[in-house]
Amino acid sequence: MNKSVDYIIVGLGIAGLSFCEIAEKNNKTFVVIDEPFCSATRVSAGIINPMVLKRFTPVWNAKIHTQRAVVFYKNLEKKLDTSFFKQLPMFRLFTSFEEQNNWMVASDKNELSTFLHPEIINNTNPCINAPFGMGKVNFSGVVSTNNLLNSYQKFLINNKKLLPEKFKHRLLKKSNNRILYKDIQAKHIVFAEGFSARNNLFFKKKLIIPNKGEFLVIKAPDLKLEALIKTSIFIVPFGDDKYKIGATYNREDVTFNPTQSARETLLLKLKKSITCHFTLVDQVAGMRPTTLDRRPLLGNLPKQTNIFFFTGLGTRGIMSAPTLAQKLFDYIENKIPLEKEIDIKRRC
Ligand SMILES: Cc1cc2nc3c(=O)[nH]c(=O)nc-3n(C[C@H](O)[C@H](O)[C@H](O)COP(=O)(O)OP(=O)(O)OC[C@H]3O[C@@H](n4cnc5c(N)ncnc54)[C@H](O)[C@@H]3O)c2cc1C
Repeated sequence: MNKSVDYIIVGLGIAGLSFCEIAEKNNKTFVVIDEPFCSATRVSAGIINPMVLKRFTPVWNAKIHTQRAVVFYKNLEKKLDTSFFKQLPMFRLFTSFEEQNNWMVASDKNELSTFLHPEIINNTNPCINAPFGMGKVNFSGVVSTNNLLNSYQKFLINNKKLLPEKFKHRLLKKSNNRILYKDIQAKHIVFAEGFSARNNLFFKKKLIIPNKGEFLVIKAPDLKLEALIKTSIFIVPFGDDKYKIGATYNREDVTFNPTQSARETLLLKLKKSITCHFTLVDQVAGMRPTTLDRRPLLGNLPKQTNIFFFTGLGTRGIMSAPTLAQKLFDYIENKIPLEKEIDIKRRC
């Protein structure tokens, strides 16, 4: 392993991984230190979806984040010679004529017409309960985050760039403006620790608000879905007749255990959405690293010249991380200021 590098990157979730990719593209050397004890990326549903489908509004920076994410994941599939990304249509099931009407109005708006197909589509799947039809979202897709992380870990190990251990913040030292950690020297360190940034000695704990999410994995051989479905839950096909069903949102519970109440809530909603037989295969829980103003936290805190953060990715990290990694890299290497809404200094 190279003991003198441009970057130490702590954390191999989607934030750390996206930053590795930008660093490598720009011929920077790096070492990743990761112990996957609480990866939000690993338990994520992996959906790329430009819309908030409750209200038919676009998500923050929808166009740029989706476009870049699609290119990023497709290129990474080629580089790793594996498959983890699928562009799949998403169907929003309507619950009333009023919702149908709201969809038609929204799809007619300039900024939304790219994302919303302007027709009410009749359901032809006998296992789906959709008496009011559905609307189709364009530019959606799904990343199998487990496959992605497994392949990327292998890639890093083969290139001697991964230390699979817990980073101990108290061992970090600085000398002549270099970062020293054990026997590794670096110009910069990037903390991409997700929710665990709260335990980082150099970070302000209160900046990250935990938001626990749980989903179920079911097996439903008769469902035969080749699309993402959004009702009051998401139904996400991921092969072998298996589907992810979720997710829940809970700001009170900071444990990582799957709960009975989440299981009951999700099952209730699922039974209203599909009519066929299914078996429950698994239930997983993770912690979204959310923030007070729902914007990520990038950059450095005052007086921490070569210590950087890349966290606060919230509920849409799989979609936004590729774009944000580029912005953080440009800030560090090319001195391009971060927009105020993503700069961690806004919270100082
Ligand atoms: C149930 C659920 C469903 C979701 N669905 C979606 C979705 O469909 N689409 C979407 O875009 N987003 C989704 N999200 C949000 C998305 O998963 C997160 O925004 C994103 O994964 C956060 O990535 P991250 O890299 O910041 O953190 P993480 O993925 O948590 O990665 C941090 C990594 O750092 C490691 N680490 C932390 N501290 C240390 C240390 N001291 N030493 C070593 N390693 C350390 C952790 O173990 C982990 O491996 C979902 C989240 C949840 C919980």
